[in-house]
Amino acid sequence: ASASPSSIAITDLAHGGLAVTYSQLLSDTISLAATLVDTYGSTGQADDGGLKEDRICILCSKGYLVPLAMLAVWTAGGLAVPLLPGMPLPEHEYMVENSEAKLIICDEKMRPRAEELAVIVKKNGGRQCEIMELDLEDIREKSIESGNGEDALEGAQALEGHRRAMMLFTSGTTGRPKGVVTRHSALSSQVSALVEAWRWTPSDNLLHILPLNHLHGITVALLPTLWAGASVELWEKFDGPAIWRRWINKEAKEPITMFFGVPTVYSRLIAAHAALSPEEQKEASEGSSRLRLQVSGSAPLPESVKKTWEEEGGVGGGMKLLERYGMTETGIIAGTGWEDAKRVKGHVGWPLSNVKLRLWDKEADKEVKEEDVPGEVEVSGPGIFIEYWHLPEVTAKEFHDGWFKTGDVAVYSSEPAAKGQVKILGRNSTDIIKSGGEKLSAIEIERVILELEGMQDVAVVGIEDEEWGQVVGACIVTTRPDLTIETLRSELRAHLTAYKIPKRLKLYEGEIPRNTMGKVNKKQLVLDAFPKQS
Ligand code: ATP
Ligand code: MG
Repeated sequence: ASASPSSIAITDLAHGGLAVTYSQLLSDTISLAATLVDTYGSTGQADDGGLKEDRICILCSKGYLVPLAMLAVWTAGGLAVPLLPGMPLPEHEYMVENSEAKLIICDEKMRPRAEELAVIVKKNGGRQCEIMELDLEDIREKSIESGNGEDALEGAQALEGHRRAMMLFTSGTTGRPKGVVTRHSALSSQVSALVEAWRWTPSDNLLHILPLNHLHGITVALLPTLWAGASVELWEKFDGPAIWRRWINKEAKEPITMFFGVPTVYSRLIAAHAALSPEEQKEASEGSSRLRLQVSGSAPLPESVKKTWEEEGGVGGGMKLLERYGMTETGIIAGTGWEDAKRVKGHVGWPLSNVKLRLWDKEADKEVKEEDVPGEVEVSGPGIFIEYWHLPEVTAKEFHDGWFKTGDVAVYSSEPAAKGQVKILGRNSTDIIKSGGEKLSAIEIERVILELEGMQDVAVVGIEDEEWGQVVGACIVTTRPDLTIETLRSELRAHLTAYKIPKRLKLYEGEIPRNTMGKVNKKQLVLDAFPKQS
């Protein structure tokens, strides 16, 4: 705000295109933080009057109020717990109860849900959970009354690094979401390392379609933008044709320079592109090629999507997608293959500057240093989380000599174009299939299946089996409704070693079920697709 007070920080497309400058963002933040401290701050003599890492849930429809509430909670000394507005009641209840929220900050639209939650909390344990409905006009009026508008910069205090800043729930791909708590210092480390890795500058303009309750939407997209003094356009939801139109940019708005999505976002954009007229398709792809950076992450990027996007005359106008790998507990771990030629399919680049990464062979109990030898990814560094909230045993179990165990298995690649890059083979718990003494990567098998004719979506799972331990099962969405396991097997024979070829097949229509972050819950999927025969 002091460097460029009048540049636009946030444009809220969900609320009529409200544009907020950095100085406005700062004075709104100070004003709201002052109200938070006055109304909910501690009152003891030895206190500074702020919130004592109290958990404050943020339950606002996607838009400017979410980052504003988050920054204000931090300024007031609280711990922000952003929630996704569209979640069903039991999920919200779980998160409000689990975080023991003292307060729910909501907007007008989410007020009824916030009230429902406060009643449930009271009924469950007699605990009081307050509600505060935000009103931007009111925040700005208070700001003028108290002279905050002018003195905002002086009023802003540096946040102490050791304080707890945020609780983000994991995506719940493998079980109930866990509340991951990070300090300010860890957040700063994650964010600044990413700004450096992806070379954010104040002239960047990010089109933001991700939910504002997960690592991807917050720590990867929103916060680095603000850290860099760049600009972000918040869209309420994904809209394929509108994204293409925005990239074509006929309306003389600031051009978009960066775009982030989960892999399904890119496959949906490909579908939306196919529905355009040939002339529009050409314009759209040219529009895409004018962006500076397009990133995919949160789940493995299928090779077919990458190819359709990137090939000559391809949908993305030749843009090479940068694939990154990260977790709620760590922030982004790897994603630095900067030059186009290093964005090689199936690879996620090298670790970020704030991350130390090693591969650990559990059975041999030693570090893996050789190429192409799988090991569990372990990371350490200043960006790592403190704890799973109220789960000290789980937290302790996930650390190994001070290294955080990600549960993901990877190799250092020997492929010439990506030598030394990290290649993710999948989650140890579900993607590494143990069949007849061999270890197979579900992700690698998925990649090969997607290359066959007519394949639209696939998830490969391990099915418990008395003879083999596990056998490979494929869940597939295809334009070939008569596909049988025999045909699939015979087509795969030219591409996969025999033991990697699926033994069972389940056809799905539309899409394989995924959570809001585009991830497949494989434990659930295997039960649905291949129920145990009694
Ligand atoms: P939960 O921990 O609740 O089961 P989750 O692990 O899906 O959910 P997140 O923290 O959002 O929750 O996701 C991190 C995981 O996402 C990683 O551990 C990894 O398995 C997966 N992931 C992220 N990026 C990639 C990628 N580029 N390729 C493959 N997997 C990825
Ligand atoms: Mg996880």
